[in-house]
Amino acid sequence: METCYVETWLHNKVRQTAIDCPELGSGDGFKDLSHISRSHIEAFQFFRLKRVLDYAFQKSKYYKEMFCKIGITPDDIRSMDDFVKLPFTEPDNLANIPHKFACVSLKEFAQEYLLDTSGTEGKPKRVVCTQHDIDQMIDFMSAGMRTVSKSSDTIMLILPDGRPNSQSDLLTKGVLKMGGIPVTCDISVSPDECIQAIEKHRPRVIFTSPSRIHRITMGYKPRSRLRELGVQTLFLTSEHVSSTMRKKLKEIWNCEIHGHYGMTEMGLGVSVECHAHDGYHFNEADLLLEVIDPNTGKLIDDDSEGELVFTTLIREGTPLIRYKTHDISRVIRQPCPCGAATLKRIGSPVRKMRSFVTIGNNDTVYPSFFDDEIYSIPEVVDYQAVISNKENTDCIKFVVETTEEGLGIEKEIKERLLKNPVIDSNIDCGMLSLAEFELVSMGTLRSKSRAKKLIIDNRKR
Ligand SMILES: [Zn+2]
Repeated sequence: METCYVETWLHNKVRQTAIDCPELGSGDGFKDLSHISRSHIEAFQFFRLKRVLDYAFQKSKYYKEMFCKIGITPDDIRSMDDFVKLPFTEPDNLANIPHKFACVSLKEFAQEYLLDTSGTEGKPKRVVCTQHDIDQMIDFMSAGMRTVSKSSDTIMLILPDGRPNSQSDLLTKGVLKMGGIPVTCDISVSPDECIQAIEKHRPRVIFTSPSRIHRITMGYKPRSRLRELGVQTLFLTSEHVSSTMRKKLKEIWNCEIHGHYGMTEMGLGVSVECHAHDGYHFNEADLLLEVIDPNTGKLIDDDSEGELVFTTLIREGTPLIRYKTHDISRVIRQPCPCGAATLKRIGSPVRKMRSFVTIGNNDTVYPSFFDDEIYSIPEVVDYQAVISNKENTDCIKFVVETTEEGLGIEKEIKERLLKNPVIDSNIDCGMLSLAEFELVSMGTLRSKSRAKKLIIDNRKR
């Protein structure tokens, strides 16, 4: 198995920084850089952390006020134990007062340097990126792409628009940087047009969302021909890939599936699933990760689940300190089976707290919660869960898009859903009911944007 390229990339960053910055390079253990250990990486991160704290204190109104409020300066942060006493940054603060976070004047930057979140989960947020920030983002995207592909590969990006500094534009530059051949295909084109583009360019890697590639796959006939197109890797972003969908796509395309977890505020590309398929290696040159108990804010030291909290280490435009992502996962500290022994990993799946919905007897469900049951039906293209409430009983209605209609499908989906323990137990105790399924034809649930799939909650609060 090939060792994750992100490790080589990170080791080179540590070496170069030690050479360029004597404050780091003269430290204990930095004389011999032939072998980079976890302690080198942590010393490098703490060096960058000290710099970003100083920088944010000098340039960001928000962080200046934060330090003044707690009565310390960045000089007082001498260890990670000191650092974790700093307050968290709440996403809503960033959403409400982005100009106070920015270390540069937002007015001086053209629109293409302002990255906005879609707002599908919480209030829309804006961060500003300098050209240095953009270059660093491209650099990591290049390393992430290199992890799942070879340097001469043709890589097709099926993403929304390619305006300057969009994800599609930055990834295109990242692919070029690693020596690959980028081909873009706008997300708004039809599945047929996508397949025509794949037939024409014969990419070895396709980067898109799971629901998009699933829709393209289901719309093509004969499906057995897809494995002849030579696609070796589906690199899937923006939504969790359920194990059922993963298995289905892997079999149909006869290729490897890699997941990706990213976030606009953290520089779009955050992490990549390596060939070991056991969690995500992330950009440890720019991101310091903590996992906390979302209720108490206390650090979680073992590998248990909690909320991911990031600090950006080299961002110039909008650095973020202890930023609460509202995403739930765990950190894996053991060496990865791919051979990367010095990297941490983010566990899979990463679940988004803002998309959690409580049903029945206080059970939590989220957009991919029903994927395994519903996508295991071969005719299903996509689905939408809609929750309502009648006389204190929650009711879930599934709108299911299929390639063919038929009563058989409805019955089969229902049988599988009833085996889901949350559905089963809540129906048993009278807290939940399933409405009649609505089967809709191909294309009905298709969305032209990349808005993430959400559960529609129509209950009155
Ligand atoms: Zn790995």
